[in-house]
Amino acid sequence: MPANVPGIHHVTCVTGDVQKNVDFYVGVLGLRFIKKTVNFDVPDTYHIYFGDYLGTPGSAMTFFGWPHLPWRPAGSGQVTVVSFAVPSRSMDFWSKRLSGLGVEASRATRFGVDALVLNDFDSIQIELVGEASDERWKPWPDGPVDPQHAIRSFYSVTLCEESDLATIAFLTDSMGFRKVGSDGNRTRFATGAGGPSSVVDVLDAPEAPVGEEAVGTVHHVAWRASNDAHQLDWREVLVKSGRNVTPVIERKYFRSIYFREPGGVLFEIATDQPGFTVDEPAEDLGSSLQLPPQYEGRRENLKFNLPPIVVPTTAARGAGH
Ligand code: ZN
Repeated sequence: MPANVPGIHHVTCVTGDVQKNVDFYVGVLGLRFIKKTVNFDVPDTYHIYFGDYLGTPGSAMTFFGWPHLPWRPAGSGQVTVVSFAVPSRSMDFWSKRLSGLGVEASRATRFGVDALVLNDFDSIQIELVGEASDERWKPWPDGPVDPQHAIRSFYSVTLCEESDLATIAFLTDSMGFRKVGSDGNRTRFATGAGGPSSVVDVLDAPEAPVGEEAVGTVHHVAWRASNDAHQLDWREVLVKSGRNVTPVIERKYFRSIYFREPGGVLFEIATDQPGFTVDEPAEDLGSSLQLPPQYEGRRENLKFNLPPIVVPTTAARGAGH
């Protein structure tokens, strides 16, 4: 088996309102708006990205702006919770910040670690988990949240399954994840070095509705490949294990393969290279519409269909201090 995937690369979800989405992820959670582009398969719709200063792999939360889709509750065969890592000392800061901004949040404990549970504008469930690493994090000094409290990366994703057996077997036998805990119907696994951004929880939830592709749901989770060779090695292993895996697809900011785990959740493995500075310098990330070469000729036409996005100014650092 190749070296384990080191952790989460990005998580992609579906929003029904791009502006309210930007207001939430920048204005409330304090992530940086790092890329404004289109869905490479549906180019008259937005694909927008948030992350740390550079969108370091493991920090990139991304959205397809698909207002034409209905809203549906998340369900089995989907990622139902996206958890972010914040410093343990920052839980009170976040609790105050969220209530100050009118965002409801409840406290939870997951395997002994404190978390705040909340919903984004589209009712996607988010957690802020009080355990973080600064190792790969690139702070955004001008962000609305003081870097001492800012989100560092993802912490985990939670997969909801009608039955967890096949998924657990796949994660451990085929993808090299190791079990690190269980609590009721929740089983926790880690990959790579473990810890924040390497964790996946699997929920055995036979009563959950079957998830559909809709506004308010997570579309897929991408795991990191260290480089192209690592990705190809994983592709071979996955094909051998019976997964139906796409060829490598050029996504401009990374290269990707896609497949479904046995419970139906769409997985991607994306390369760490080349990253989000491939088409605009770090200081300008997210400031203008970026298109892949195949759509450059349609720029004016595409722009006509894409509503303007106003990124909140960063003067709102006051809340929660
Ligand atoms: Zn993706």
